[in-house]
Amino acid sequence: MSHLTYAKVVGTIELNKRQETILQIVKDHGPITGEHIADRLHLTRATLRPDLAILTMAGYLDARPRVGYFYTGKTGSQALTEKIKKIQVHEFSSIPVVVSESSTVYEAICTMFLEDVGTLFIVNKQAHLVGVVSRKDLLRASMGQQDLNAMPINIIMTRMPNITFCLKEDYLFDVAQILIQKQIDGLPVVKKSEQDDGFEVIGRITKTNITKAFVELAKDEMII
Ligand code: ADP
Repeated sequence: MSHLTYAKVVGTIELNKRQETILQIVKDHGPITGEHIADRLHLTRATLRPDLAILTMAGYLDARPRVGYFYTGKTGSQALTEKIKKIQVHEFSSIPVVVSESSTVYEAICTMFLEDVGTLFIVNKQAHLVGVVSRKDLLRASMGQQDLNAMPINIIMTRMPNITFCLKEDYLFDVAQILIQKQIDGLPVVKKSEQDDGFEVIGRITKTNITKAFVELAKDEMII
């Protein structure tokens, strides 16, 4: 099945006759393995694989390893929405790239290139989050005539308390909405410091992480 066909199925969730039959078998006999469904239909497991993938992805069926398929009792889109909304930040976050607030703009540019990220988090001596610097912040600073080696990063960064951040238990779906609403590329994932009111940066979540989650979600459903 091509990726486009796959996307179309998600959109319309129209089942063919064989898929309807599979659904009925699982409703009547679930939990049931793919092998047993195939036996009942006198087909091979391989032939059924795409149908099972569609039914699972669309949310009609769920599957547990070594248990088999069972009927969820939900409409396809309800189940998929629920699944999306349950993904937490820590499942897809990346390692944060931080620079010290005593760094220069030049050093920050080098770090951004070397680490291949679009956003840097600026931390103070206690390793607490004090700022965020994006690619455009650095480009803007570079457009002037100033010496970038002499320009401290903390004069161009977006600073606390104006930083939007998230916790590792937050939902990825909520983060995605914040990124759209605030028109930013990513958020630092933070943990409240045990000593004071500061926040330690423990991760980063960007549009790329969210794209990965989206792809993984679809892939999981296809493999089962
Ligand atoms: P770019 O500017 O490279 O397109 P963004 O859209 O992420 O990247 O950043 C836009 C502006 O928002 C920048 O000035 C940046 O400092 C600021 N910014 C980026 N991330 C955050 C954040 N999590 N909280 C607050 N401000 C942010």
